[in-house]
Amino acid sequence: MLIEENIPLAPLTTFQVGGPARFFAQAQTLNDVATAVEFARTRGLPLFVLGGGSNLVISDAGWPGMALKIGLSGIEERREDGSMIFDAGAGEEWDKFVARAVACNCAGVECLSGIPGSVGGTPVQNVGAYGQEVSQVIVSVMAFDRRDGQIHELCAEACGFGYRTSIFNTSERGRYILLRVSYALHPGGAPHIEYADLKRHFAGWSKKPALADVREAVRRIRASKGMLITPGDEDCRSAGSFFKNPMVSAAEHEELEKRAAARGLQIPSYPTLESQKKISAAWLVEHSGFGKGYDAGNVGISRKHALAIVNRGEARAADIVDLKEHIQERVEEIWGIRLEAEPVLVGF
Ligand SMILES: Cc1cc2nc3c(=O)[nH]c(=O)nc-3n(C[C@H](O)[C@H](O)[C@H](O)COP(=O)(O)OP(=O)(O)OC[C@H]3O[C@@H](n4cnc5c(N)ncnc54)[C@H](O)[C@@H]3O)c2cc1C
Repeated sequence: MLIEENIPLAPLTTFQVGGPARFFAQAQTLNDVATAVEFARTRGLPLFVLGGGSNLVISDAGWPGMALKIGLSGIEERREDGSMIFDAGAGEEWDKFVARAVACNCAGVECLSGIPGSVGGTPVQNVGAYGQEVSQVIVSVMAFDRRDGQIHELCAEACGFGYRTSIFNTSERGRYILLRVSYALHPGGAPHIEYADLKRHFAGWSKKPALADVREAVRRIRASKGMLITPGDEDCRSAGSFFKNPMVSAAEHEELEKRAAARGLQIPSYPTLESQKKISAAWLVEHSGFGKGYDAGNVGISRKHALAIVNRGEARAADIVDLKEHIQERVEEIWGIRLEAEPVLVGF
């Protein structure tokens, strides 16, 4: 495995910002992973694991240690107790995996079509969209444990999945390098059509939509929102949604309603969010003065989606962080809620 020096990280991310990695390697095998970990350990360097770079803001100074890109490939499938188990290498492109599952007529990830990044990135923040989350289908993950240098198989329960969280981005952040993820999908299962956008899309259909129809619809809807990486569309030079939908208590919800009423507004009602006691972060951002197309020089808000901070072309990481903080402060001032950023800030 080649270990390179001073490799620019910006081109390896969807935001396309940030400085170089002091050392950089791409792991194609389990042995490569162990070698890179050892390289960093013996030199006392911090190690950062890079997947598809679609949920990252890399600092302008870059990463002072080893950046290890996971390139482990291969997808295998087998029948087990009526399910189809897919064992996918962490370095596989996520959407390629979804395409394969749908082509095999296996339900469970069709609504997660078009999400950029790698298979190994999906358990980290329990990727979700249009009513599906990977935690609903992950059976286990195979991971290199940097604490004991061993490879472990962690069952779904041990991953501690929650809304955009797992142990990998909370209690055990930095400990595990994910090597392979196993998903149990449902052969011949019906597609999941729960979200309003999808229901609207299929409203006039006389036949039942197939998994492939739902995949196509999700990709089309995502493209219209700048949420599908589309060459030439600068609204997708982002990390997708920049803020998580905040969870609120009944008392907080009541307070929010009062503040909205004082401004002649009503908190929008989204049944799927309400059942999880969540408020739309996009609504809060939009109603704090940051509408679609908001311009702050080199950065701004996507013209197609209120929740995506975008690099207008010449942005530095500092510009993104400045806008993030400005939004967080304004939303807190007006609505009393501190929004939590979804992307991972690296090297700050
Ligand atoms: C246009 C756009 C749309 C998006 N839409 C959605 C969406 O609908 N829903 C959603 O949930 N997310 C969405 N995202 C965010 C992002 O695509 C996902 O979070 C994705 O799973 C990140 O995977 P990645 O491989 O790119 O990870 P990276 O961005 O490379 O890394 C993210 C984090 O995961 C860690 N990591 C990555 N791979 C591994 C591994 N093998 N082992 C250990 N740690 C690892 C990294 O260290 C880092 O902490 C979107 C992003 C963009 C740009």
